[in-house]
Amino acid sequence: MRKIKRHNNRRRVIILRGIKYLLIISALLLALAFVLTNFVFKDSGEEETVTETTTEVIVLEEPEPEKEDENIDNKWAMFLVNKNNPLPMDYDSRIETTMIFESWREYFLDSRAAKYFDDMLKAAKEDGIDLLVVSAYRTIEYQQQNFDNSVQDRIDNRGMTYDEAYADTLAEVALPGESEHNAGLALDIMSEEYTSMDDDGFENTEAFKWLDKHAHEYGFILRYPKGKQEITGIIYEPWHYRFVGVYYANEIKQSGLCLEEYYEEQGWTDANGKAIEMLGPWEPEEKEPEVTTAPANTEPKETMPTTPYSEQKVTIIV
Ligand SMILES: [Zn+2]
Repeated sequence: MRKIKRHNNRRRVIILRGIKYLLIISALLLALAFVLTNFVFKDSGEEETVTETTTEVIVLEEPEPEKEDENIDNKWAMFLVNKNNPLPMDYDSRIETTMIFESWREYFLDSRAAKYFDDMLKAAKEDGIDLLVVSAYRTIEYQQQNFDNSVQDRIDNRGMTYDEAYADTLAEVALPGESEHNAGLALDIMSEEYTSMDDDGFENTEAFKWLDKHAHEYGFILRYPKGKQEITGIIYEPWHYRFVGVYYANEIKQSGLCLEEYYEEQGWTDANGKAIEMLGPWEPEEKEPEVTTAPANTEPKETMPTTPYSEQKVTIIV
């Protein structure tokens, strides 16, 4: 009997073990099912919603141009100012300026560009070069006065009629807003070695050599290079530097192009040399689309003087 009981007990133990194993296997199967549900089925589920996935991909592609823009500093400063692209006549009121140099008078630049010049000035000094600013920001009003004086001087002292004096002055000057100095982004830089603008002798100075080597590192370009007069409309000016931001200064320096040529190469101008992209102050204000009372700000043509040419006030450009 005992033997039978023992035998029965063993059978019970075996059965219980069998149940135990079954439970364990069941638990494992459930776990496996859980894993499959969460990974395999989910994947196939996403495949079914192809349109949603595609939409997400498009959204991801859009920020790429912005990433490119992140490499471009001071994009606002990359605009053309010349005969074909005069500044809006109210430009003086649109910018803040900061004093960047003081000698017998004070010189100012657009505040956003001022620090770059300050860094350049200090770096030059560390290399033993004392840069001398002889002209910087000029208001349109100031230039108008200068031009008027220039015309009047020709009438009073050279015996010219008004039209003659005006035409003669125009050969050396530009209309208001056509000078980069009006934009607060241009500097005429010389050094104690050489301070004459009557010729291009400044290019033989150590200061010029330093600027030629380093100005682009601080966002400045030689704006009216040698051999580009027919394109820029301005004689070779080894002293005139223009802020365009470090990124574009490097690009332009490497290209060997003047600003007009660079614009053309990028497809930013029309056949007449008028900027159609990278418009600078003429660009619509992106964050204020509701502003509808300032169309003149976005249309340079409307801001140009409409009085007869001979009656317009013009300004000195250097
Ligand atoms: Zn200049």
